[in-house]
Amino acid sequence: MCGIVGYLGKKSATPILLSGLKRLEYRGYDSAGICVLENGALRTFKKEGPIQMLATELEKQSLDSQIGIAHTRWATHGRPNEINAHPHYDCHHNIAVVHNGIVENFEGLKILLEKEGHKIVSETDSEIISHLIEKFYKGNLEQAVLEAVRLLEGTFGLAVISTSENKLVAARRGSPLILGIGPDEVFIASDASAIIEYTNQVIYLEDNEIATISESGYKIESLDGHSINNQITEIKWTIEEIEKSGFEHFMLKEIFEQPKAIANALRGRIKDDKIKLSVNFDSKKIDKIIITACGTSWHSALIGKYLLEKIVGIPTEVDYASEFRYRSPIVRENNLLVVISQSGETADTLAALREIKNCETLGIINSVGSTISREVKSGIYLHAGPEIGVASTKAFTSQVASLVLLALYLKEQISGQLDKDLSVELLTIPEKIQSILDQAETIKEISQNLVNAKNLLYLGRGINFPVALEGALKLKEVSYIHAEGYPAAEMKHGPIALIDKNMFVIFIVNHGPIFEKIISNMQEVQARGGRIITITDTKDATIEKLSEFVITVPSVSEELSPLVNIVSLQLISYYVASANGINVDKPRNLAKSVTVE
Ligand code: GLU
Repeated sequence: MCGIVGYLGKKSATPILLSGLKRLEYRGYDSAGICVLENGALRTFKKEGPIQMLATELEKQSLDSQIGIAHTRWATHGRPNEINAHPHYDCHHNIAVVHNGIVENFEGLKILLEKEGHKIVSETDSEIISHLIEKFYKGNLEQAVLEAVRLLEGTFGLAVISTSENKLVAARRGSPLILGIGPDEVFIASDASAIIEYTNQVIYLEDNEIATISESGYKIESLDGHSINNQITEIKWTIEEIEKSGFEHFMLKEIFEQPKAIANALRGRIKDDKIKLSVNFDSKKIDKIIITACGTSWHSALIGKYLLEKIVGIPTEVDYASEFRYRSPIVRENNLLVVISQSGETADTLAALREIKNCETLGIINSVGSTISREVKSGIYLHAGPEIGVASTKAFTSQVASLVLLALYLKEQISGQLDKDLSVELLTIPEKIQSILDQAETIKEISQNLVNAKNLLYLGRGINFPVALEGALKLKEVSYIHAEGYPAAEMKHGPIALIDKNMFVIFIVNHGPIFEKIISNMQEVQARGGRIITITDTKDATIEKLSEFVITVPSVSEELSPLVNIVSLQLISYYVASANGINVDKPRNLAKSVTVE
């Protein structure tokens, strides 16, 4: 959420900052701004709307500067307009700041600063940071930043420049920030995609750290003044992975990447009749599992509950991370807390993790080196490659595949025996998903019937109830059509009132013990004139009769069925949204990597 880029080096800063912003646009796209230091003056350009607006403005300018900062915004405080766009200034336009996060005590600080004569011009919480730095500035920028951030409550990832010194200062608490290290140049960025074009050598700033970058290099200190020697990490992925590679949108590319992503998640982890995970706890001691996550990851957590209870037999609870930390969760020493986040930076999930100190923790994370991945005691990386589309697709299926691995691992550790059938079958999932992707044209045609829909119901049962939730969420996120996911049998307790001849209902129907029950639910919808689309692994005359459209998917074990069922739902969301002319990679009001609470 919100993207920050900074540069100090020998090259022209503006094109580097702009290309970094474009790569970070998925983190926020309501306004953007850039500020460079040129001949001792700060030159700032801000534009409401997507980054292209700023790019067009910059084409008219000739800027000669080797140092600057830039920001793409996802507004939390104040409307998305030019005044509220970052960078923000102090009173004399000597200091410029870009900020990711929320200053929770900004109202109080604003009153204080205004009393001292500071003129605050925007509605944002962020602007007070530049005035605080001004207040404390006595000839040393990092010292002033240090004193300013000590007064801040909430979260920040900051980049700061000033007219008085040829320096770039970055600081973080709660919002991600990295340094990119090149020969004779240093970058600041919210994530590595902004700078991978220039360097794959990065340093992850930790919370309460401040970095000062100047022509002579960089130094990192803790906010209490101790110098720190952070390690340089090499980013393993390449620029090609964050390009669209011929696809119209990242979302479509990422849907089609799922066979590869899942193969990567499984690679080397099922070997010699063993599941290999880097898990540092004694599985036999775990008596309860708590999974916490947000959004799509919360849906994979619900599938995880089903898997862990069925395969391993350990009671498992699932909670929204934002709720978990504010109720009084009962967590004991022998419990395992599992946190799931694509970015590894999700603020609510990170806060939930930090709340719990007394038990084993395990992260299921995509972004290598992210904050959550550094703070959990054990972890499973998805290895799905960068996910740029705001609506998560390949991360979801990779999370589910990783949860199957976790369940198989715990089962094997506890019983001494691998569930061979399931683990062998898991390895066949990439080709099964490919067979659904091969039907994309048919799914696209079916989707055309939904473009004018106002409401949809998604119904599934058992392990496929969370798939119904995820299918509905995907549609809402990218097409703005209202949709609800329900356990199919719950329909009669309320949502059935919505069904009429205009209502499409998507059923997920798998072979198994509740097959007949779900057919009865379909009858109930049809009897009320509802229009049925069915995703099924079973050739069945009644399904054919009841459904207007049927999408047939490969038959797999129940435990693995979410992995195949979700793919057609992702495609439906994509095709409905793009038929309605929506840019699915930048759905309104949303942004990737939710780094604010
Ligand atoms: N709170 C700041 C604003 O509204 C930054 C938001 C963000 O991190 O995206 O401008």
